[in-house]
Amino acid sequence: IKPKPTIFMIFGGTGDLAERKLIPALYNLFLENYMHKEFAIVGLGRTDYNDSSFIKNLLAGVNKFSRSGKADKEKWAEFSSRITYLRTDVNNEGDYLKMQSIIEKHEAEWSEKPAIIHYLAVAPNFFPIIASNLAKLDSASDCLRTRIVIEKPFGHDLESAKELNNLLSSIFAEKQIYRIDHYLGKETVQNMLAFRFANALFEPIWNRNFIEHVQISVTEDIGVEDRGGYYDGSGALRDMVQNHILQVLCLVAMEPPVNFDAEEIRNRKVDVLRAMRKFGTEELRNNTVRGQYSEGWVKGEKVAGYREEEGVNKDSNTETFAAMKFFIDNWRWQNVPFYVRTGKRIHQKSSIISIQFKDVPHLIFPSQSSESWQQNRLIISIQPEMSIRLQVQAKRPGVDMILNPVDMVFNYDGTYENDSPEAYETLLLDAMKGDQTLFMRGDQVETAWDLIMPVLESWESKKSISFPNYSADSWGPETAEALIAKDGFHWFTLP
Ligand code: NAD
Repeated sequence: IKPKPTIFMIFGGTGDLAERKLIPALYNLFLENYMHKEFAIVGLGRTDYNDSSFIKNLLAGVNKFSRSGKADKEKWAEFSSRITYLRTDVNNEGDYLKMQSIIEKHEAEWSEKPAIIHYLAVAPNFFPIIASNLAKLDSASDCLRTRIVIEKPFGHDLESAKELNNLLSSIFAEKQIYRIDHYLGKETVQNMLAFRFANALFEPIWNRNFIEHVQISVTEDIGVEDRGGYYDGSGALRDMVQNHILQVLCLVAMEPPVNFDAEEIRNRKVDVLRAMRKFGTEELRNNTVRGQYSEGWVKGEKVAGYREEEGVNKDSNTETFAAMKFFIDNWRWQNVPFYVRTGKRIHQKSSIISIQFKDVPHLIFPSQSSESWQQNRLIISIQPEMSIRLQVQAKRPGVDMILNPVDMVFNYDGTYENDSPEAYETLLLDAMKGDQTLFMRGDQVETAWDLIMPVLESWESKKSISFPNYSADSWGPETAEALIAKDGFHWFTLP
């Protein structure tokens, strides 16, 4: 399906997200002919720009951040002729009337009534006021045409997520609400569905009988950078686990859907969250680890500890690292641990899913024949490398029967000539087409919050006496290693 005529209203059009991600994504979609010839982008922000100064800024952003490199002069001229700027205060009702007349103008001029996408790339405290004001636009209740895209974070806890869902659903139908989680737009994450459900090979062994444990590890080498003020009120659980990691976990663990319909896939995903074991006192003690980075050396340069970062409270109790062990109480996954970890200022930036299969039932080779025995593993690397590897044991060439592990590798770079689209390209195109498969449904978000609330509450109410407990450029606190080592495993890293 190609998108229909579309108007993009970007609230926060002058912000960082619009500059680095949204406009470069729309420009690349335009270059690759995915946009309908009738489209318009309206940037909304507080800054005092006119159309041309706004466009000039966006061009600088595209030149710097687009995967297609520096913008082509003619193509940019054609693309940017659809961009206008409207100085807006989200609290001012009059500004929404101006948006209304922009919409009406395009409706009158174009071949058919356009889809209208209100993209909320603003701080979350503005989501309610914008949504309430949008309700007054004539087009708001048009379920087929009007959509609202909500950036992360969706709520600060279960209660606020529920409140936001209630407010949104009092104005829009669920099929108009696109809660974005950009992880779901990533190629390798989407490939999880293809790998599992387009191959006869994996699904029969995708269960507790063959899989020993699963790991999802999302580590960043950077610290909080200039987001200290925001991050200190959030932390790793909210910033990464509640959304990205749990969404990825759902794709790994979901039951086979009947078809590829958005609702079907989202139903199967929410089933996983509903089956996840709640954290009681014992699970909190044994299955969760939190950490906060101290100063350290990164590539020969001294970097500040978390508490010394700008905007961060000097005795902050906020975690910059979280590791936990989950269980999914259903037939497929009974007793299979799912270990997840995420952290900032970790030695290596990488996002990996590692699925470790059970050992062979009986080893026929003499023990000296194996140099380093490794059970079969399937490793999906989301970033920076985009690859899927199957680790198997093989015979090393030579006259003796010596075994060692080798990787069968499907690497995107070596397999496909074209660049993969950025996650935001996929997601923006889906929003234009009206496809919600890769967006989070309201109940999914609430169930994910519900699951982590006991951990959040416990961590917030009990100050960690050991913070900071890992140094910058390490692999996180030692207790995170102990969490997995006590079960006889270790965290997997790519070489
Ligand atoms: P930003 O601070 O760079 O931009 C904020 C935007 O809001 C600006 O365009 C500003 O003009 C506008 N704004 C502020 N007050 C306003 C008002 N009263 N009326 C009208 N406009 C107003 O923020 P950002 O980094 O672009 O983030 C925006 C949203 O996207 C946030 O919810 C953030 O969590 C989310 N997000 C950002 C990134 C990122 O990489 N920047 C990534 C994921 C999610």
